[in-house]
Amino acid sequence: MTQQPDTTPDTTPGSVGQAYDQFGDAGATTALGGNIHVGYWQDDHDVPVAEATDHLTDLVAGRLAPRPGQRLLDVGCGIGVPALRIAGAHDVHVTGINVSRQQITQASERADGSDARGRASFLFADAMDLPFEDGSFDGAWAIESLLHMSDQSTALAQIHRVVRPGGRLVVADLCRRKPFTGQDEALLDGMLNVYRIAGISTPEEHRARLARTGWQLLELTDIGEQVRASYGHASAAFRELAASLDTFAAGQITAAADLMEAFGKHPDAGYVLITAQRP
Ligand code: SAH
Repeated sequence: MTQQPDTTPDTTPGSVGQAYDQFGDAGATTALGGNIHVGYWQDDHDVPVAEATDHLTDLVAGRLAPRPGQRLLDVGCGIGVPALRIAGAHDVHVTGINVSRQQITQASERADGSDARGRASFLFADAMDLPFEDGSFDGAWAIESLLHMSDQSTALAQIHRVVRPGGRLVVADLCRRKPFTGQDEALLDGMLNVYRIAGISTPEEHRARLARTGWQLLELTDIGEQVRASYGHASAAFRELAASLDTFAAGQITAAADLMEAFGKHPDAGYVLITAQRP
């Protein structure tokens, strides 16, 4: 059983969207090259963080293995940087959805100025209630978005419905290698509250949810050690940002940075890269 935090974070799509509206305003993603996800380093720790975050996007795209002309869905698309990279590199059509209106505007503006113009579109939609016809996509991905959803099973079932039989889903998400107890529970609760996270699942919970919603698991890899440096980079970027803000906002961002750093140092903080297929 997953233990409930004492103070359940507000993770309705409306409140998660609002949090990302504010996050976008603060320009917090600049250091990550506009990606709102971890970086991946194999043995190449000199690689700048923005490049490492693009590397993670490329790992996701590699697992999707799309063919030119296919239609893909990006679930929780941030400001569109991964979608535009994948649309550009693989000559595919991408639809990005998001519950932050601010991010949708930013993503659409980026698309207009990109090589993928005409092949990427962004719209406001909740992953737990997708406004698409059955089987309308050849594949889908979700990078660090499922963890925000109060009902991940409904989201996975919805994605399953809109992806055609034979199509793939790639998920990249934080995980905890085992349930957190004692002191660690307070750290986890802090992460959930500050980042509007509904839950950080174990690999087993990810597997069970995918199976329950009809997905066939092709691969699940814990790349936690290859992404671990990200938390230090992100918390440093948050602290730098705090220096330019008023006292209240600076205090909030500094507290968020402290949590991120502590989570990143935790030996049971993992990260799953999952490939699944709709049978
Ligand atoms: N995948 C992007 C952004 C990750 S941040 C990237 O890698 O850059 C998480 C994103 O998920 C945010 O854009 C947030 O608004 C979105 N999100 C969270 N809950 C959602 C939901 N229920 N439906 C759609 N998008 C959601």
